[in-house]
Amino acid sequence: MEELSKRLSDLRKKAGLSQIELAKMLGISNRAVSKWENGISQPSLENCVRLCGIFNISVSDLLTKESGVPKTVHDRSGMESLRELYKIGRGPSSSHTMGPEKACRLFRSRYPDADRYVVRLYGSLAKSGRGHGTDNVIVKTMFPRPCTVEWDYLRTDLPHPNTMELFAYRDGQLSGHDEVYSIGGGSIRFKGEKRTETKLLYPLTSFHDIASFCKKNRLRLWEYAEAVEGRGFAGYMSEIWHAMTDAIERGLNDSGILPGGLGVPKKAAYLYELEHIDESAEVRENRIVSAYAFAVSEQNACGETIVTAPTCGASGVMPSVLYYEMQKHRFTEEQVLRSLMTGGIIGNLIKTNASISGAECGCQAEIGTACAMAAAALGELFGFSLGKIECAAEVAIEHHLGLTCDPIGGLVQIPCIERNAVAAMRAINAVTISSFLSKTQKISFDEVVVAMNETGSDIKEDYRETALGGLAKIEL
Ligand code: SF4
Repeated sequence: MEELSKRLSDLRKKAGLSQIELAKMLGISNRAVSKWENGISQPSLENCVRLCGIFNISVSDLLTKESGVPKTVHDRSGMESLRELYKIGRGPSSSHTMGPEKACRLFRSRYPDADRYVVRLYGSLAKSGRGHGTDNVIVKTMFPRPCTVEWDYLRTDLPHPNTMELFAYRDGQLSGHDEVYSIGGGSIRFKGEKRTETKLLYPLTSFHDIASFCKKNRLRLWEYAEAVEGRGFAGYMSEIWHAMTDAIERGLNDSGILPGGLGVPKKAAYLYELEHIDESAEVRENRIVSAYAFAVSEQNACGETIVTAPTCGASGVMPSVLYYEMQKHRFTEEQVLRSLMTGGIIGNLIKTNASISGAECGCQAEIGTACAMAAAALGELFGFSLGKIECAAEVAIEHHLGLTCDPIGGLVQIPCIERNAVAAMRAINAVTISSFLSKTQKISFDEVVVAMNETGSDIKEDYRETALGGLAKIEL
């Protein structure tokens, strides 16, 4: 409280405003501003957002809501930046390659004097790490120091299914140790540590609360995201969109066999070019959207650059839907960026209140989330009301509940690539249903997210990215 009052006073003075001037800009009494600065009361969230607009800072910079030591692997007291959700990186797996890479990079910088490292993988990281190439990424990241990767399939008391331990040695003596969790989408947590890398930017953590706030302040979801994220966010989202479309274009111009030994051919170009002799508009739409989804997902499977949306494995859904609809309806880039922000809020809510990790909650957490994000984004492009956007996202995630994660050979190829295409079409379907039926909606988006989280923890471990059950048992 004290800190906020001082920060407010400093910001006001830096902006060259008197208390009376600031009060006038906010449409409130100058006594209210004086009370804030004297620590007698705090501005409401509405006024926080307005203050951020005036001072040109993000809500988090105003509130500096630093996270403390998380009680569990998930900290649900706020939401991280959408920059933590949408990340440009190399595939094929955000939790099995991007997360461990980040953990190794940070660990190495903590113990730069080590002469060798050991990284021990547990749970899903151990069981499907070989297929995802986790060991290669770790060894490369630790290079030029030698690094041994150990696979522990037996430890069961894991705080998170993607757990890893990192050891640093110098002159034969242990000089450092950390336990790290790769929690999905390339994000990581160090055991018991204060999170220094990322702040919890968003104070509101349910769709209900965010929608109420937006209604009260006549904001669309993307406007709320922009206000919270602060300066430079649109530029960041533009980079994200260009990385997404680059992946589509690269994928459409690629051919050959995917790496990994399954002998899966790249099919994006084939789908894109192979026009049906008597093709209806519906068939064409399905074919082109699917071709785009295949293009990105195949690039991901090749370890090429894609955008996590929310993960590498599900990276084809958002770009395929938005790229297709942008071309079809001639939406501007600005409109698409706004839709990405809207979809991002949905993805962030699921990441915060449930999971976006296949190892933790199955494929419903990855592809299901991507589908809900795409549905919300498309709703934004079509100018849907908040209620309709919620309905579209709810329908999209609801019909992925229980979806397992069982990629063959632990490779992000079968069923992952095709699944991106199916989810993209499902997002379009969810938007159509919502446009007609949102008024009859009985279940809220927040309720489905809770159900997804519970369903995820009930899914047997064999079906959560361990390459042990379901399709993963098929030998090719
Ligand atoms: S099955 Fe789904 S969750 Fe599992 S790796 Fe493939 S896309 Fe990701």
